Formats: sequence, structure tokens, C-alpha cells
Amino acid sequence: MGISEFALIRKYFAALGCERRDVSLGIGDDAALLSIAAGEELAVSLDTLVAGVHFPLDTPPDAIGHKALAVGLSDLAAMGAIPAWLTLGLTLPGVDEAWLRAFSAGMGALAREHGLQLVGGDTTRGPLAVTVQVHGLVPSGQALLRGAAKPGDHLFVTGTLGDAGLALRALEAPLPLDEGTAAALRARLDRPTPRVREALALRGCIHAAIDVSDGLCADLGHILAMSGVGATLWVDELPLSAAFLAAREMLAEGDWLDLALAAGDDYELCFTAAPENDQRVRQCSGARQVGVIEERPGLRCLRADGSHYQPPRQGYDHFEN
Ligand code: ADP
Ligand code: MG
Repeated sequence: MGISEFALIRKYFAALGCERRDVSLGIGDDAALLSIAAGEELAVSLDTLVAGVHFPLDTPPDAIGHKALAVGLSDLAAMGAIPAWLTLGLTLPGVDEAWLRAFSAGMGALAREHGLQLVGGDTTRGPLAVTVQVHGLVPSGQALLRGAAKPGDHLFVTGTLGDAGLALRALEAPLPLDEGTAAALRARLDRPTPRVREALALRGCIHAAIDVSDGLCADLGHILAMSGVGATLWVDELPLSAAFLAAREMLAEGDWLDLALAAGDDYELCFTAAPENDQRVRQCSGARQVGVIEERPGLRCLRADGSHYQPPRQGYDHFEN
């Protein structure tokens, strides 16, 4: 190792993100000291990304830095919290300064974009893994919860679904994709866009929210279970990207529907809102309505021709034929 652990932290992590006034003490002591205003609640979420499990081994280091933070920001968005601070647990197989520079730049750019400051962490040696804890602030009582969906609510999804899953599928069993399509899908896998702005704009006009990290059916299932409601999902209304639409020609129908409904790694928001807020919801988030919340428990997937669709992947709680 050409550089000590402390020099490494100073060089690549001491100034990552913004300099925030609510940080009384950042990196360098035994713990960070952070100020929280009266009337605010602290939202905290932690995720670990293991090389080869949560991202392909050939993922560029700047993308690993971006994604590790994006995953956490997506959780803060789903709570309606304003991002503030992050801590970073880094397990490295060795010191590769070019890798560290790119990783820190990727994470730093996203941190600055969302106003976060890196305030501490831990650095160890071992197989590559990145743990990020994000901390956000939300006015007391205003957090967006999974259990707040009501019968009659409209069901929405931001962005597009299935792109990251399709990118991963194309790595496992190559598809004859043109370069632009392949790159667009891979970008969605490597550099997800956390829907923080959308979530903050939606706060106050929506009911339940969750971020789609494990696939729409599974994550919507959490909203339904925790709200004690059911839903009809219009599978032909799922928002799909141009790249996904180009690539799905090469897949069986059950395959592409499964990717859009269950593949995961989308980091979009799934949320419910009272019908009278439809216009405001669309204006401030660009989200698309994909179904309705109903009293009757269970998830019913409906095709455009009125037939029921049974997703091939099951095992979700509160899943109904
Ligand atoms: P301790 O042994 O008391 O836990 P460390 O030697 O692990 O302290 O860390 C020294 C300082 O550097 C602490 O403020 C810690 O939060 C910070 N730090 C360590 N690793 C990282 C990292 N990967 N990113 C940001 N800060 C880090
Ligand atoms: Mg330590």
C-alpha cells in the first residue's frame, strides 16, 4: 500500500459533497456532530452493495460510487425526506488510487447535486463492498409511508420500469441490441436516477409511497400489505423506455412483462394519490397512472383486452390469482 488509511480518507473523502452549515463536526474525530432543527424528523437508511452481487464486476468505479449513493437517495425520496448527510463504509481489496479517484468523483457529483455532505465512515480491507448510510430531514409528521394507501386512490409510477433488469438480462444472455439501445439500458443499471425532486414536489398531495428496488409487484405488494388494501394493476400501461421497447421485440411477451413487473433495480417511485390530485401529480412528477387501489385485498394484473395476467414470478405476500 503506497498510501496510509488516513491519507486515503483525507485525499478522497474529506471533502466529498457539499459543505453544510448543520455539520458541527465532520470527518476526523470519533463521531460526527450534526444539528437537527426543532420540528424536523431524521430519516435514516442504509444499503450495502457487494461486487458481483449488487453490481456487475465490470461496473466502472465512478458508476459504483454513483449507484451506492443513488440507492440510498431513492429510499429518502420514498420517505419524502430532504437529503442531508451520508456515511460510507468501504471494504477494498487493496488501494488503487485511480479506482478511488473515480469512485469518489462519481459519488461526489451525486452528493453535490442533492446537497449532501459525507460526514464519516469506515475503511477496511476485504472483497469489494460499499455501504452507504443516508440521512434526510422531513418536517415532523409529513413523511411518506407505505401504509397510507386508501381505496379509490390512483396508483402511479415515475420514470420507466424494467430497463436495469433488461440490461442485466442482456449481460447474462446477449441480445442483438444496437449500440445506443445497449448503452441506454446499461446506463439505467449503472447510474439510476433517484427521484428526490419528484418526491419532494409530491409531498402533501400523495398518500403512500415506496421506491421500486425489488420489482413493481413486490414493492407495490408492501404498500398493499401495510395499507390493508388491494389493487388492480394495468400491465399495458406500465411506463417503458424507448430502449426497452426496441429490445422487447427480441423477447417473449412473458419475458418482457416479467422484467417490467419483477426484475428490480429500477429506483422509480410507486405511490398512490386521491383522484382529485391527478393533474398536480402528473405536473410535479411526470408519473404515469398504472392502476387503482381497491378495498378487496390482493393484486390483480389486468391486460388492455380485459383479460387477467398472472405474472410468472410469484411468492409475493398478498398476491392473488
Ligand atoms: P475510529 O477508529 O475511531 O472509528 P477511523 O480511524 O475508522 O476512526 O476513522 C477516522 C475518521 O475518518 C472518522 O471520522 C471516520 O468517520 C472517517 N472515515 C473513515 N473511513 C471513511 C470513509 N470511507 N469515508 C468517510 N469517512 C471515513
Ligand atoms: Mg472506524
